Amino acid sequence: MSGLVHGFTTKAAGSFSSGPPAGWPAVAGGHRLRLLRQVHGAAVVPPEHPDPLPEADAWAGCPAPGVFLGVRTADCVPVILCHPRTRTLAVVHAGWRGTAAGVVSAALEFLGAPRQEVVGAMGPAIGGCCYEVGLEVVRALGPGPWARRKGERWFVDLRDRVEAELVQAGMPPGRIDRVGGCTGCREGFFSHRARAETGRLLAFAGWGAP
Ligand SMILES: [Zn+2]
Repeated sequence: MSGLVHGFTTKAAGSFSSGPPAGWPAVAGGHRLRLLRQVHGAAVVPPEHPDPLPEADAWAGCPAPGVFLGVRTADCVPVILCHPRTRTLAVVHAGWRGTAAGVVSAALEFLGAPRQEVVGAMGPAIGGCCYEVGLEVVRALGPGPWARRKGERWFVDLRDRVEAELVQAGMPPGRIDRVGGCTGCREGFFSHRARAETGRLLAFAGWGAP
């Protein structure tokens, strides 16, 4: 996968809530970071979308070299998908609402690549250890091993749910990596739910500038 530049930031890189923090190295290196106005929906936009801050929760397409596609998360799941042969990428913000709305499948569809050849990674997100939800969330995401009941309380593991959807859609299960831990109980991540933090982590992917 020569030329692919991607990553998931931690708190150490600062917050991306209102854009790249000072000293963000991708900017210093001549790369352009594109961000979305995220609304917990299922809209997918291409990298060449004319709006400087498109209203959507996923990117998919073939960004020009030097253009990094980013999504911002605290507890939601950041997903990066890549089809190396066609140099297509998707970068997705998948919270429970967006996931229930189908944003993950929509991004994979928009990518348009043979699903057996797509590789993926999910970054830090709130885990089944910490993500207590109401019954409406369990209902919206559907029944499955991602939803566990402890007494009267329900807990959901969003990364399990996202991975199940990708596999259901045709991606090989062994090709979806998990990077980083639970944003709720592990150090180094922003968490809106566990600590009421407003900071946001960045997940990004692009092709290196020529
Ligand atoms: Zn946790």
